[in-house]
Amino acid sequence: MAPTDNPPETFGIDYAPAPESTAVVDIADSYGHFINGDFVEPSSGATFPTVNPATETHLADIADGSAEDVDRAVTAARAAFEGPWGQMPGSERGKYLFRIARQLQERSREFAVLETMDGGKPITESRDLDLPMSAAWFFYYAGWADKLEYAFPNRTMAPHGVAGQIVPWNFPLMMAAWKLAPALAAGNTVVLKPAETTPLTALLLADVLQDIDLPPGVVNIVTGAGATGAALVSHPGIDKLAFTGSTDVGKAIQRIASTRRIPLTLELGGKAAHIVFEDSAVDQAVEGVVTGIYSNQGHVCCAGSRLLVEESIADQFVERLRRRVSTLRLGDPLDKNTDVGAINSADQLQRITDMVATGVSEGADLFQPEVDLPDKGYWFPPTVFTGVQQSHTVAREEIFGPVLTVQTFRTAEEAVEKANNTPYGLSAGIWTEKGSKILWMAEKLRAGVVWANTYNRFDPASPFGGYKESGFGREGGLHGLSPYLRERTGGTRGGA
Ligand code: NAP
Ligand code: MG
Repeated sequence: MAPTDNPPETFGIDYAPAPESTAVVDIADSYGHFINGDFVEPSSGATFPTVNPATETHLADIADGSAEDVDRAVTAARAAFEGPWGQMPGSERGKYLFRIARQLQERSREFAVLETMDGGKPITESRDLDLPMSAAWFFYYAGWADKLEYAFPNRTMAPHGVAGQIVPWNFPLMMAAWKLAPALAAGNTVVLKPAETTPLTALLLADVLQDIDLPPGVVNIVTGAGATGAALVSHPGIDKLAFTGSTDVGKAIQRIASTRRIPLTLELGGKAAHIVFEDSAVDQAVEGVVTGIYSNQGHVCCAGSRLLVEESIADQFVERLRRRVSTLRLGDPLDKNTDVGAINSADQLQRITDMVATGVSEGADLFQPEVDLPDKGYWFPPTVFTGVQQSHTVAREEIFGPVLTVQTFRTAEEAVEKANNTPYGLSAGIWTEKGSKILWMAEKLRAGVVWANTYNRFDPASPFGGYKESGFGREGGLHGLSPYLRERTGGTRGGA
């Protein structure tokens, strides 16, 4: 039967709603910064709201961090580094990390519900990815805290001192965990700035840090928007900077860091190629492509946003893909049946809407399934563009939304050339039954992470990071620990 003859899948049944209860979370009316072990008022008294993007309801007022607040946090971090934390043996530091990991596991439902409420991602994703990965990161780096001499044999390593860390809104707690765990295992203290639209799980983490009696000042959290992040980057008391976010802001930070020669890691944007050969297990590949671009509404730096499919199966593949996309359930992120949740903010929705309009105006063919978008909140239907040229904006620029472009190729060489034809280089995916083809491709793809016959898999022992405009430095594994350490060669910063 030709693929187009397949009847639509109508079973005449629907899912009963399965909403996760919000009774497990307790959101305060307002939150201060977390500095020196306590929640403190912002120096200016200024606050900003955080909302639930699925309902547009106001969740809490959040302290807007000024340069003065950043200074207080850096001062507290410095005192903790020169005081208890800096003197503590790695085996003791590790115990704190194990306690954080266990608390994240024990309170995972509360964290997952809060993450979904503040950011709009499906509860199944916050429950099954964000929380387990956050705990796993702390468990993994807890194990390294007392083994630094084995991790870096014949070298004497020392922490930098105070690390400034800035994270985005797509995986708020997980990105914080990826940054905090290696920094603390290595013996640094931290000032963390969460993203403006999703500060609540970082602030709940502060509650955990109080519960486990982490010494005051070891982790400080200053909330705010871009200006707060900029104040942190420019603070002269910062010894190491780590940033995850957009390429433009990353470049601005690199300029500032270079004037002071601060060690810097940048985890930036991506425009990953997801390559499907004709000899792949097609249904599994369809599922992988769907996961690759539509999970977390496409707000994923390593999302497989450019499908490259071998020409011989392209029509059949696109047909199956459209059918599968039409079965995705969009709606209440707290419902356990939901596949596609809310777009994180009105601003991001506008960016996605503009990019898709550009795609249409440049001549690409738009496919969107018929979905009822809820009246309130920020929503965008899963979208597939076919008839895409390499020159099209939607094939070149990161959209950071549920939008897939489809192009074809005839040979593996052409697939590599098209895949690498991007300023980014974070990730890529390959679907084929031939192991030799996977190895040949993986070697030629200019991407920090290459998945084969799967996509979007993470492990704390496995380094993650990019080439080119996707940044530099790695998170995860020993590669993720080393940027938080310097070789002690005597007489410089940090008391060595
Ligand atoms: P963004 O605008 O660059 O923001 C990232 C963080 O930087 C936020 O906390 C933001 O605060 C802050 N910030 C904004 N302007 C700043 C400035 N001038 N100085 C210092 N900090 C500043 O990025 P985004 O839109 O939130 O996140 C999406 C981007 O992150 C995408 O490009 C995505 O690919 C990338 N990303 C990369 C990875 C990776 O591992 N490679 C992982 C996740 C996301 P506000 O939120 O308050 O503006
Ligand atoms: Mg929010």
